[in-house]
Amino acid sequence: MPKLYIETVGCQMNMLDSELVVASLRKEGYELTASAADADTILFNTCSVRQHAEDKIYSALGRLKNAKRENPNKVIGVLGCMAQKDQGLIFKRAPYVDLVVGPGQLHQVPALVREARAERKPRMEVSLGRTDGSRDAIERSHESFDPLRDPAMRPTPYQAFVRIMIGCDKFCTYCIVPSVRGPEQSRPPAAILAEAQQLAGEGCLEITLLGQTVNSYRYRAGERTWRLSDLIEALHEIDGIARIKFVTNYPKDMTDDLLAAVRDLPKCSKYLHVPVQSGSNTVLKRMKRGYTVEDYREMLARTYESIPGVAVTSDFIVGFCGETDEDFQQTVDLTRESRFKNSFIFKYSERPGTKGAELYADDVPEEVKRRRNNSLLALQNQICEQDNEAFLGREVTVLAEGPSKAAEKRDELGDRLQLTGRTNCDRIVVFEGNRRQIGQFLPIVVYDANAHTLFGEMVTQHVGPEVFGLALPLATPDC
Ligand code: SF4
Repeated sequence: MPKLYIETVGCQMNMLDSELVVASLRKEGYELTASAADADTILFNTCSVRQHAEDKIYSALGRLKNAKRENPNKVIGVLGCMAQKDQGLIFKRAPYVDLVVGPGQLHQVPALVREARAERKPRMEVSLGRTDGSRDAIERSHESFDPLRDPAMRPTPYQAFVRIMIGCDKFCTYCIVPSVRGPEQSRPPAAILAEAQQLAGEGCLEITLLGQTVNSYRYRAGERTWRLSDLIEALHEIDGIARIKFVTNYPKDMTDDLLAAVRDLPKCSKYLHVPVQSGSNTVLKRMKRGYTVEDYREMLARTYESIPGVAVTSDFIVGFCGETDEDFQQTVDLTRESRFKNSFIFKYSERPGTKGAELYADDVPEEVKRRRNNSLLALQNQICEQDNEAFLGREVTVLAEGPSKAAEKRDELGDRLQLTGRTNCDRIVVFEGNRRQIGQFLPIVVYDANAHTLFGEMVTQHVGPEVFGLALPLATPDC
């Protein structure tokens, strides 16, 4: 059996792409290996959002130079966003790479691997750039790749990503996504529903719908235009699917119908990731985010008011071009008042090919970026800890996902072990349980909390001579 090694960096979209690539290569007889040294085919599914992610891939490629010299039969491929962005540059920097395949061409990977091995000629398959043709032609050159699923590549057997859109049309000035993943295109509801039905049949309980701006989902089918709320309502009808999440939301598209769907549909996770990026209108304008801080505050107030107990999370970029101390202070103020469940905070990293790189100087010193990053993180952690403490003594419902990180580290082999799971509003809970409870919804009482984790104990019931954990019916609506 030929062996495949795949390394994935970046977002959930990339994780899903890797699942599909692996599924398509398994059909060709490949088996996965955890070691690049053993592999006949080595693939890197790459990310271009930050320079650091690209540097790591080029270093990993550098380490393969000798392996390829010793075994020219090894096929080395670079897939994903960096492949689309750097294209021929990858062959220049690592001439022994066989394949460069953009995210819109992943369906070709099995054939390309076969050809690379037979012909030993480098191949590049990328999609059209945003100015390389008509909108129609560019859309067609970015194919959504969703035909095959591979349970072994999922976060857990009970959880799966489902792509509902590809691309993005928002063109935020710091972001490379609209160039590398092409125009915004929504998948037909029928295809998404069929995929979710298949996943439910395979025992999947939780699906996470993916799109760069997932709440911009629109699909015209005959007379009807499907919105994300319509799609969630239809998915809600599928037996077996017990929890529905969706990421990432664009603040301007957080419509009332969607908030009502999240509030009213019990399978819908009360968790919304809605990145604000900055608390300064000057910076938001330079980022071309398309909203003001006032717009965001209004959206957040509407969200908290519509959905009791909802958890909202955000992303921030600190040190964007021209960001002053005053701009940053406004970000701090917004963070303090917004009570985000958590935030992903990044230092700005200039991306060649974006409007930001073309128009503005990356003029905030690295040291200042680092300081702002750390201070915003400290504030967010303080908020997380306070809000998590409010859960002490409360009962929450948790989907048990598997052994906790600590249990994995300790390599616990028995049936009793520390488990981890998430509540309906996406809070991580760690508790003692039994291996057979993985994949069940369980009632847990929280007895301790820190900024990132709740610690709890399973609510048990005396049945006959033994004490059992209570497995809850699917789709319990509480936190
Ligand atoms: S909305 Fe902005 S940040 Fe998000 S993917 Fe699109 S361009 Fe990038």
